Amino acid sequence: MINYTERIALLMQDIVSRTPALGFIDLREVLVFGRYGRPGAEGAFATCHCLTLPETEPGYYFWRDRATGEVTRRSEWFVTKTPEVRVSGTRIKYLISFVLPRFCEQTLDRSWKADLYDSVEPWVAKLDTIVHELYHIDPAASGIRQFAHADGTRDTRTHGPQFYEDVATMTRAYLESAPDPGLLEFLRFDFSELHQKFGGVTATTFRNFPSFPQRYMEPLSTLPVDLGIKVEPLKRPAQPQLYTEQDLNVRQFRARAARQLAASTSTPR
Ligand SMILES: [Zn+2]
Repeated sequence: MINYTERIALLMQDIVSRTPALGFIDLREVLVFGRYGRPGAEGAFATCHCLTLPETEPGYYFWRDRATGEVTRRSEWFVTKTPEVRVSGTRIKYLISFVLPRFCEQTLDRSWKADLYDSVEPWVAKLDTIVHELYHIDPAASGIRQFAHADGTRDTRTHGPQFYEDVATMTRAYLESAPDPGLLEFLRFDFSELHQKFGGVTATTFRNFPSFPQRYMEPLSTLPVDLGIKVEPLKRPAQPQLYTEQDLNVRQFRARAARQLAASTSTPR
């Protein structure tokens, strides 16, 4: 079977080594994993998740009485935290997830992205998406890459039109740099072709699949609460605060579901 996320990680190595604007990326700090998503369904093909966002200031939710405006109920105090992910001792700063099998079906045909390219093969849409997710990694290491308006104020959108053009420029330049076709070959196939050719498609996932490391609220019981207001307890975090290589495994992705492989011996990344 083909380990799809491993192939993407290998290709990413080559992309960052040939793309000056992405050359600062240390891929030891980036983990590629698979999420399940039906082909043809609406939704993202891939996502870049930042693990370096700091803990928030303590806060709480509250509810007001519509008529009087008085606060009638509140939640416990909490802070929002990012779980830590460590693989072989290295702290992971970004996770990049690919939605399978949906991503395998991505094509420039009938896509608005085709306007950004002259005459490239339809599968280049997938390469564009891989470059896109890498481009989200912020050189200032402060989260997801932000954009400034010409007047210097921050653009709160993470995708300005320039973002897509930059990605297409980098993707074209990468293809023109004559990369090893063997590194790109797997992108030429859609999901059923991959199945035929390799007998199945696998990907690195987290053991708590379909979950994965996400920001969570941690209740703070030490801060004072006014008397006389009902305090609603928060749900306790259900996910680990620290993920390691022990929390990774390899799953086979099928058209309708993903299942864990019985004996998973391959090392992720
Ligand atoms: Zn994006």
